[in-house]
Amino acid sequence: MAHWLSILVQTPAHARLGPVLTYQSEQPRPAGTLVRVPLGTRETLGVVWNGSAIDATGEIDPDKIRAVAGVLEGIAPLNAAWQQLLSFAASYYQRSVGEVALAALPPQLRELNPKQMERRLKRPKAAAGPDATAAPLSAIPALTPEQASAVAQIETYSGPFLLYGATGSGKTEVYLHCVQTLLEQDPDAQALVMVPEINLTPQLEARFIERFAPIYGAQAVVSMHSGMTNPQRLKAWLAAHSGGARIVLGTRMAVFASLPKLKLIVVDEEHDPSYKSSEGARYSARDLAIYRGRLESAKVILGSATPSLESWHQSRPAEEGGRYLRLHMPSRIGQTGKLPLVRRVDMNHQPRKAVFSLPLIDAIKERVLRGEQCLVFLNRRGYAPVLHCAECDWKSACPHCSAFRVFHKIDRTLRCHHCGFTERVPRACPSCGNVDIGTLGRGTEQLEEHLAELLADVRRPNTVSDAFPEGEPLRIARIDADTTRLKGALEEQLAAVHAGEVDVLVGTQMIAKGHDFRRITLVAAVNPDGALFSSDFRAPERLFSLLMQAAGRSGRDAALGAQSEVWVQTFQPAHPLYAALKTYDYPAFAKQQLKEREQAAMPPFSAQALVRADARTQEAAQAFLNAARQSAQTDMAQWEGWAPLLEQITLYPAVPMSIQRVANVERAQMLVESPSRAALQQFLEAWQSVLHATRGLPECKGLIRWAIDVDPLAI
Ligand code: ADP
Ligand code: ZN
Ligand code: ZN
Repeated sequence: MAHWLSILVQTPAHARLGPVLTYQSEQPRPAGTLVRVPLGTRETLGVVWNGSAIDATGEIDPDKIRAVAGVLEGIAPLNAAWQQLLSFAASYYQRSVGEVALAALPPQLRELNPKQMERRLKRPKAAAGPDATAAPLSAIPALTPEQASAVAQIETYSGPFLLYGATGSGKTEVYLHCVQTLLEQDPDAQALVMVPEINLTPQLEARFIERFAPIYGAQAVVSMHSGMTNPQRLKAWLAAHSGGARIVLGTRMAVFASLPKLKLIVVDEEHDPSYKSSEGARYSARDLAIYRGRLESAKVILGSATPSLESWHQSRPAEEGGRYLRLHMPSRIGQTGKLPLVRRVDMNHQPRKAVFSLPLIDAIKERVLRGEQCLVFLNRRGYAPVLHCAECDWKSACPHCSAFRVFHKIDRTLRCHHCGFTERVPRACPSCGNVDIGTLGRGTEQLEEHLAELLADVRRPNTVSDAFPEGEPLRIARIDADTTRLKGALEEQLAAVHAGEVDVLVGTQMIAKGHDFRRITLVAAVNPDGALFSSDFRAPERLFSLLMQAAGRSGRDAALGAQSEVWVQTFQPAHPLYAALKTYDYPAFAKQQLKEREQAAMPPFSAQALVRADARTQEAAQAFLNAARQSAQTDMAQWEGWAPLLEQITLYPAVPMSIQRVANVERAQMLVESPSRAALQQFLEAWQSVLHATRGLPECKGLIRWAIDVDPLAI
């Protein structure tokens, strides 16, 4: 008798309204089984979604139903928890479950033919057990009292936990300790440890292998990130899926790993924006980790020195509604050196248009002549440009919102990305009449050149040769996305800094994070103010985190003896963000920011989604969005029982995106907001059909694609 199988295949985005495909099979197959099925003229990978059923009604015509081509023998079905995680992710991020589930599997499951797959699965497994090569075994440090207290709470309570610990306070050691206890107590248990960036994985991998390979064998630790080859990815995936791998380390994609015995999830640097995917299903691996932990009764630890305001808010005291347990580790381990002194330079008292203040230049000279290194960084604007008058400090605020309007160069307009309010760019400053208005933060592109000019006559004593009778000129190096495009270039340039071949390092935020520079004693943020007056309400949060990170680059070697410093050049020296930075007071900063967010009903006090549309013309992109908005307000309001829900939803007018045209494609977006996450979810789900229908309207001709971004990180 034939069995009917509902099977997921990789269907395009937004096909969630369509049915899961039905196939027939001689054998019953449990849900989660990986199969090959015919689709059109090709064969593709599928996942049995609801298990087998026998058609009792006799309604299905067996002649019209194609048969499953084969089962991926030797691979156990994906378990119910995994299926549930993928269903949730697809529904929450408004994508088709076929798309999300199939994309979460390693590409080779799709690509290899049955013979090749059989060979891969048969490959002899190295004997499990202690790895002799990893015998240069390091001593496990005794926990500090702060670490011991954090560990005790993690062992006592169910979490989720926010491990709020200064850089170098020993967070990683806490993760290692918790993983170790888990593996010792439960011979099957698995742990998932995530980091935001690929280049942080080798470091972490080394630490985990060093600790665990001698006990559980080198195969016990596997990595998952997009820098791996497809065969490597398949191997790691199979190891995790079969339970052979006890610890999976990876970037955001690892949150979807099949881990049948998952008991612990760590999200390190949980505030990092790269946990949010920016294409396909725009999921947040951090948020999914929390969901997955609850689903599988696994403990979840989020770690950061500057937590996201969302996680900080969730970890407020339970009496106030907090749902995470906050664990605090304020002390740095083994750092005899003090934290760098924060110095604010009031740029209002500097010559107009000066990029570098005189005291900063003097300080750099002094450090360099002593043989110390300086790091000058600019937070290249990752956010939309805001117009500014340097004469009177006018900025392009929106009169209707607590947001700044964005300067759109293409049609010389100022637009609010929140409410859509638009005006032509004024000829002169509306406040003082100055005609020389421009975007905040301009002029920093030529930073390196400019710095070289200012330091041109400084000479260091001769060390290398006596080719310069008056001393050697300073060595200024720039590291950013442009200088590091070639493979290995970044490593080479960093090595030069470490070797002391550079006096002043100029760079973007990529330099401010993570690196262990030993001889840098001065770090300067040249022009950070832009983030305070950004149309993106998360910009201050990112700036604070970046400045805290950058501060961590200064004075890492206490043996140098010098008081290390962090310089901030600002027109807003009294701004609460800089005041909090001065005392490294993240809680004060968070409190002030959350208060502002609450007053403006911004996340985490509201839920947001963006609909983005790409089209041949800006008009078509906006027409599509505005028509879908109109339908929600008129048609959907007629649906039975929907009026009260719609009252909780605010749809703002469509606006062009800050970068409005890319490769001749015009881009627009529309913000959807609600005080209730559940209401927003319910609305988006129903609204999908409206968006599909809208696509066909004549005024939307030229529309190329559209996508929903739930919990967007930049608006
Ligand atoms: P974080 O992850 O918070 O930045 P790490 O766990 O990397 O901190 O610890 C910082 C440094 O302190 C590392 O070199 C680590 O080996 C060391 N360390 C961590 N915990 C201890 C401890 N209990 N005793 C001694 N050294 C420790
Ligand atoms: Zn002005
Ligand atoms: Zn506005």
